[in-house]
Amino acid sequence: MARELQPPQLLRGMKDILPSDQPYWWWIFDTARNLAECYGFDRIETPILEAASLFTRSVGDATDIVSKEMYTFTDKSGDNVSLRPEGTAGVTRAYIEHGMLNLPQPVKLWYFSPFFRHDRPQAGRYRQFWQFGFEVFGGQQAILEAQLILMARALYTSVGIETTLQINSIGDKTTRLQYAKALQAFLKSKKSELTDEQKITLQKNPLRLLDSKDPKIQELLVDAPQIIDSLDEVSQKHFQEVLGYLDELDVPFVLNPKLVRGLDYYNRTVFEFWAADDEGGQISLGGGGRYDTLVESLSGRPTPALGFAGGVERIILKLKEKQIPPRPIAAPEVFLAQLGDPARRKMLKLFEQLRSQGVRVAEAMTKDGIKQQLEVANKLGAHYTLIVGQKEMMDDTVLIRDMENGIQEEVPFNKVESELKKRLEKNRANGVTPVTGQVTLERLDKYKDDVPAEEEVPVPHDIDLDVE
Ligand code: AMP
Repeated sequence: MARELQPPQLLRGMKDILPSDQPYWWWIFDTARNLAECYGFDRIETPILEAASLFTRSVGDATDIVSKEMYTFTDKSGDNVSLRPEGTAGVTRAYIEHGMLNLPQPVKLWYFSPFFRHDRPQAGRYRQFWQFGFEVFGGQQAILEAQLILMARALYTSVGIETTLQINSIGDKTTRLQYAKALQAFLKSKKSELTDEQKITLQKNPLRLLDSKDPKIQELLVDAPQIIDSLDEVSQKHFQEVLGYLDELDVPFVLNPKLVRGLDYYNRTVFEFWAADDEGGQISLGGGGRYDTLVESLSGRPTPALGFAGGVERIILKLKEKQIPPRPIAAPEVFLAQLGDPARRKMLKLFEQLRSQGVRVAEAMTKDGIKQQLEVANKLGAHYTLIVGQKEMMDDTVLIRDMENGIQEEVPFNKVESELKKRLEKNRANGVTPVTGQVTLERLDKYKDDVPAEEEVPVPHDIDLDVE
């Protein structure tokens, strides 16, 4: 017997970004963009698919991200390719490939893009997720870390999320190698208490054990040596400078000796932003640090660099948890409503005229009744509705209805644009903006399970409702 086909479903760990969530997405995108422009970053978008070797050479083949979580396959040309698990490697490749080393430095680039990690899905952890990222190439001064931190912090505060800045320094490569040995030696006598997986991590990438979320490991590490104590002199001085800037700028921070970040390319300053109520950093909202040797390890001219990436979904989860509503979408200024086909054709044209002149205009052309159309106008929060019923069609006029007070005025159709503009300009000059926010968002609510009840709208007195 033929098996019945089921409707296709999302892959595990993947997520649709539904219209109801879009106001959050636009809000975060616009905030990131404004900050990027203000701090002098230019946007870059690199391909989702890159040579797998880009990530083994940068993020590191011993890291979980590369060794366990990367989507890697051979494509039809026989090339070994990966869906990018993070953004810094691709942007660094582009920086080298397009000769940006020859531009005035520092070169500052930002992105807002999807990334892929085949990790175990759970709250705030998806297999496709979005990050906004800021990368700075060609600068070794500590002030760059301070500015990057200020910028990231500004993003969280401007959407209303309180965070703590966790910061550490992991020194240079020699420091890390020496420290890795010290950590291995410290844990040698406690090896029997580690899981098989942790034993492998201890062997391959021992620093990773430090920021493990496993409470048992954290207990074992209470008296472990701290990397900050074995910093080389230059890194130590650099870190002091970074912290000095933060102090001066009144940016509170938590010195977190266990913060090491999971990617090989980092050196010196590393930092993360955790939600203020997420004490263990279970769901970090973003992180970054210096990667002074990455350009060189991808065969570019040695170029100090640093960057930060924040997780978009996690910010949205936090906003929802805190019941912080997204920034409202601007409501339409004008809604067009009509009765009958000839009027619809007339309004179709008017819609294009108004839209091309920059008026925020809306319609519901597939609805026949004026009452239903006014209901839509009301839900969208339109400030005015232009109505052409049978009488208006005959007289070649149009009704301009003020949606706030229900007052209607009849004007000749050929004057409608100038009449409308007069009103809009007056409103704008008086600071009257169309009703926004909740009203407009109701439109998006239809994608949620609990559709709100329809709202009753008074019908204009001089419209014949029976003619459709
Ligand atoms: P990372 O590249 O691991 O430093 O991640 C930077 C930020 O991206 C994290 O702080 C999270 O906010 C976000 N992020 C990382 N992995 C995921 C994931 N699997 N799902 C959702 N967000 C993620």
